[in-house]
Amino acid sequence: MKKIAILGSTGSIGTQTLDIVRNFKDELEVVAMAAGTNVDLMEKQVREFCPKVVTMWEEKAAAELKSRLQDMEITILTGMDGLLEIAVLPEVEVLVTAIVGMIGIRPTIEAIKAGKDIALANKETLVCAGHIIMPLAKKHNVAILPVDSEHSAIFQSLNGEPKNRISKILLTASGGPFRGKTRAQLGNIQVEDALKHPNWAMGRKITIDSSTLVNKGLEVMEAKWLFGVEPEQIQVVVHPQSIIHSMVEYVDGAVIAQLGLPDMKLPIQYALFYPDRRVMNEKKLDFFELQNMTFEKPDTETFYGLKLAYEALETGGNVPTIYNAANEKSVALFLEKKISYLQIPEMIERSMRKIKRIDNPDVAQILETEAEVYEYILSLI
Ligand code: NDP
Repeated sequence: MKKIAILGSTGSIGTQTLDIVRNFKDELEVVAMAAGTNVDLMEKQVREFCPKVVTMWEEKAAAELKSRLQDMEITILTGMDGLLEIAVLPEVEVLVTAIVGMIGIRPTIEAIKAGKDIALANKETLVCAGHIIMPLAKKHNVAILPVDSEHSAIFQSLNGEPKNRISKILLTASGGPFRGKTRAQLGNIQVEDALKHPNWAMGRKITIDSSTLVNKGLEVMEAKWLFGVEPEQIQVVVHPQSIIHSMVEYVDGAVIAQLGLPDMKLPIQYALFYPDRRVMNEKKLDFFELQNMTFEKPDTETFYGLKLAYEALETGGNVPTIYNAANEKSVALFLEKKISYLQIPEMIERSMRKIKRIDNPDVAQILETEAEVYEYILSLI
């Protein structure tokens, strides 16, 4: 029985992880789960999966959950302390980081120190703290198993090949709902428009990030840390059908790709059972049903958040944190209808120009940079 803990069990990745656990009840056991405020779903999940420990970010939510679960023997925690405690529970073997945002950094670091393998969906953690996470994982001999579909595809395409034989990584992107539009046409985009992704059903923040191509920018940074390649070796290829999930080109020109229908369950299941593959009873790719597969260069003038990501990666230090924090805050403000769609990349660029660069930031400096960016953005609106 593999024992897992899930940070973000009530979200899009979290609930799909539980779907897999449901399919492999004899092989996977959920020991702990964490969520933010969704008490109704957490109660249902606890009753079904019977974890030993759960944590809710908000104290009020934790208190409500406790009163509803009086008939069960369970420890209920709250806040950052709760996340940190779950991350290091002795019986947990794999921590699934399906929480959204930089809040995932500290629990991920503590879990690695405690020797847990990480099934990593929470890309923001690698973007901001990849320089801390990857050496730490090596030191503690733990695996960082990518859950993001593109990175899982690259991981699968790399299987067994030495890294010094990689020529480049071809990171595919659907292009999002506004592919082909000009910047002027994006002026009037409303929250509801940006939440309609053509191929993937995901949480709200990543859906907005996909529409601005900032998600692809974050993925470029994630790929650098996961696969140890240089920024110029990562090429974004727009592939609107989302059938090829990413590819690796080797030094001899061979290109290895992973294909499949757009469904996050496959990369999640692959991470949970790696290096084994298990049966999945979902619809499979039928090549005769495929109309066509097309490829384009990304439009980095309209979607300049992607261009800024390369700049942040090249500049290094805390600049990827500035990029990420500015995006997190701007997306939250856009979802609250307090800023316009086009202000998202604008806020990222202004923050990158304004906030002081720090070389090789530690966790405290990363979190201080986040606070500084938030304050700066709030001063602008
Ligand atoms: P969702 O918004 O759907 O879910 C986020 C989860 O995190 C929820 O369970 C939420 O709880 C929980 N959460 C939020 N804040 C806190 C907090 N402070 N403490 C504890 N729990 C918290 O996000 P997604 O599942 O879409 O994304 C999760 C991560 O995975 C992101 O980093 C994203 O970029 C990445 N990812 C997602 C993909 C997808 O298909 N969705 C694909 C690839 C990567 P509550 O419900 O109570 O708010």
